Amino acid sequence: MARFIFITGGVVSSLGKGLASASLAALLQARGYKVRLRKLDPYLNVDPGTMNPIQHGEVFVTDDGAETDLDLGHYERFTGVNARRGDNVTTGQIYSKLLAKERKGDYLGGTVQVIPHVTDLIKEFVLKDTADTDFILCEIGGTVGDIEGLPFLEAIRQLGYELGEKKAIFMHLTLVPYIAAAKELKTKPTQHSVKELQSLGIRPNILLCRSEHEIPVSQRKKIGLFCNIKEDAVIQALDTDTIYRVPLLYHHEGLDTAVLREFGLPVKKIDLSTWENIVKRVKSPAGQVNIAIVGKYIALADSYKSLIESLDHAGIANNVKVNIRWVDSRNFTLKQASSTLKDVDAVLVPGGFGEGGIEGKLAAATYARENNIPYFGICFGMQMAVIEAARNLAGVKDASSTEFGPQKNPVVGLMTEWAKGNEVEKRKKSGDLGGTMRLGAYPCAIKAGTLAHKVYGSTKISERHRHRYEVNTNYIKSLENVGLLFSGMSPDGKLPEIVELKDHPWFIGVQFHPEFKSRPFEPHPLFKSFVAAAVTQSKKGKSTKPTKLKAARYGA
Ligand code: GLN
Repeated sequence: MARFIFITGGVVSSLGKGLASASLAALLQARGYKVRLRKLDPYLNVDPGTMNPIQHGEVFVTDDGAETDLDLGHYERFTGVNARRGDNVTTGQIYSKLLAKERKGDYLGGTVQVIPHVTDLIKEFVLKDTADTDFILCEIGGTVGDIEGLPFLEAIRQLGYELGEKKAIFMHLTLVPYIAAAKELKTKPTQHSVKELQSLGIRPNILLCRSEHEIPVSQRKKIGLFCNIKEDAVIQALDTDTIYRVPLLYHHEGLDTAVLREFGLPVKKIDLSTWENIVKRVKSPAGQVNIAIVGKYIALADSYKSLIESLDHAGIANNVKVNIRWVDSRNFTLKQASSTLKDVDAVLVPGGFGEGGIEGKLAAATYARENNIPYFGICFGMQMAVIEAARNLAGVKDASSTEFGPQKNPVVGLMTEWAKGNEVEKRKKSGDLGGTMRLGAYPCAIKAGTLAHKVYGSTKISERHRHRYEVNTNYIKSLENVGLLFSGMSPDGKLPEIVELKDHPWFIGVQFHPEFKSRPFEPHPLFKSFVAAAVTQSKKGKSTKPTKLKAARYGA
């Protein structure tokens, strides 16, 4: 039976609980254990699918079509284990299920209450589908003390009791702040946070203390004493230069050893060579490239989390550092392109929704196309590239998408019916927004001899989707006549999946989101090839300084 590690956070948010959980999982994996990670999100949305990325960060999509918290992206990138729908739950989902049961009469006339009915459903979620796994790491979103989090903490408290000592442990992530004026590290916030947790009946086995400064042994002893935790289970988690060093640092501090000891398990040999190699390559690039990302959610780096990581992975594969230049598509025109994009080595237009900033994205595509600069359009970025080609190459001046209203030339249109395996998925124009897009993994057939074929080295691929609109096949012929090839289609030939420009060094648009499948130890072929094209381009040009984005979580 699987063992459970429950991970909570205290003091402040944004301490990098997701990365900490993913890194611990990677360490247990490096010791030969099978791991799976789960996220319990206390917010009331049913899933993050309808949330603004600037507020909540990127929506990560799983193979089986769940729209989930971005932490699941960390989990996949650090362990290579594909997440499933059942690995992320929210209060909204728990209550939807609970209320449906109540309406059906499942509670047999009883009063429906948070304890035991809500907590039972949370426990059911945690315990589901855990066969063949040695460790389930369950991260609880939010911070101890949040009202929404209480039922989740109560549920894991009960689980700790029911599963028993060597079957479940609790790890708490806190902050040990440094007060510059006093030149001192302060342990009091950690003490209070643990006290709060203990008042809810949870005694953490392990404390992971984030800090900007080395925490002296004396301070760790003090924390241990006040918090009722063994001194060597008080682990310091210092800020670091690259997120891929985190597993190495935690191992160095003894985190995985402490965890195994709490479970009474033997400490097997560890192989950390994967992480050592990645860090070595991140730290010693032979060159650099500048890539412009033209999008509208640039106020928060987390909105494009997987994208940034995928570019980093491709940088590792090409032995270069990828500098990102963030360009706000809402304040960008073709006129500015020649100065803003003059010295970038490649242009990427990512996914997006709504009309805001589309002219900027179209301008980015025009500029890259006309100047032979590598262009990568992802989902919305592909739709923009197609509209751009329709307007400026095929002469369909009013080409547009029905996402922006009724169109005379709907080169991109709403999709109301498509095949999923042997079934037909149907949607109504007036239907719900949440969870109704074309979501998750779909196969794509690639035409032999195309750039896409060369990139993937295969004619059959599967990629994850998240979109409501689709390129209209009625325009394929006229677009192919002007050099925009449809090099990837759904196997039934009804849905365009990949387009590419003939007679251009590297110009690809994809209807799917390849960024969800890239791993540091297995970079995605499209990103790898795109960055390689940027390297070629950079040899023709010069380089400039990148712009800085608001710091992402964990000082990334
Ligand atoms: N808004 C577009 C659609 O729904 C593209 C979505 C995206 O980029 N993920 O089709």
